[in-house]
Amino acid sequence: MKAVVIHEHGEVDKLRIEEVETPSTAPDEVLIQVKACALNHLDLWVRKGVPGQRMPLPMIPGSDISGVVKKAGSFVKGVKTGDRVVVAPGISCGRCAACLNGHDNLCASYGIIGENRDGGCAEFVCVPGVNVLPIPGKLTFNEAAAIPLVFLTAWHMLTARAMVRPGEDVLIHAAGSGVGSAGIQIAKLLGARVIATAGSDAKLKKARELGADETINYRKLDFYEELKKITHRSGVDVIFDHIGADTWDKNIRSLKMGGRLVTCGVTSGYEVATDIRYIFFRRLSVLGSTMGTRGELIEIMRMVERGALKPIIDSVFPLAEIASAHKRMQERKTFGKIVVNP
Ligand SMILES: [Zn+2]
Repeated sequence: MKAVVIHEHGEVDKLRIEEVETPSTAPDEVLIQVKACALNHLDLWVRKGVPGQRMPLPMIPGSDISGVVKKAGSFVKGVKTGDRVVVAPGISCGRCAACLNGHDNLCASYGIIGENRDGGCAEFVCVPGVNVLPIPGKLTFNEAAAIPLVFLTAWHMLTARAMVRPGEDVLIHAAGSGVGSAGIQIAKLLGARVIATAGSDAKLKKARELGADETINYRKLDFYEELKKITHRSGVDVIFDHIGADTWDKNIRSLKMGGRLVTCGVTSGYEVATDIRYIFFRRLSVLGSTMGTRGELIEIMRMVERGALKPIIDSVFPLAEIASAHKRMQERKTFGKIVVNP
């Protein structure tokens, strides 16, 4: 089969398209013919490498996969050849206390398909049978692939971690990102007033179409000052961040009494200074979040099927143009997900 293989970390020239063996399936696994694979910021980290983190190489990247089941192992239940499926990207042991308490994302051996085992930037992928979900309704393969990682991340951040309540003010940074465009929809679904930031007016227009009530162009205006106006100086209840150093200090100062800052990543720097007085005087909570549970993804798919959440696709590339897809992601001009088709 054809696959994108990363042998060493580096720039886009490290994304090599090669002919490799089609993976063989264990009895508890499923072989999927990949129809679509969406990219995430994670793909950039897998390609570039992360200081202090060893990743297994060579690696086929790609965490958000949809396709058709070609073969289901003898131990796999509820999945058969020919099924249209989408893949839950999180891998866990299935038998530790965290897994059995429904917190599989807290499993000590938690990993992600496309980071810790071969992913979907290939013609075929082999995944555990328990990670396979049916594609709801009339959703296309590209739409289905655009859902799992970002919706799971945003859902877990806003529901399980920040516990957003109806009527609260929620600031969603970087509305054009995959996780931001999911976050706007989920916060809206939870009954919040959604304030979104983005670096262009065109992105802000799309953010409003997704449900954002207020928008801030962070290239033209200071989001801290704008939030004071929007909230009449009271601050926001929840801030949804994956920017890091560029937004941290103003995030802390923008939260109201009892406010929660939930973070799932950094696209700017990861080292910040914090004035701890804000944390205790205002009784703030700083919440870390990575991915979510497999059960949450089932809940998300139900909301997608009902039309309450919708995947947002920025662009579609053939697998052969994986380097161009990565470049587009790096340019930060996207709104929604970049999808590749083998
Ligand atoms: Zn476990």
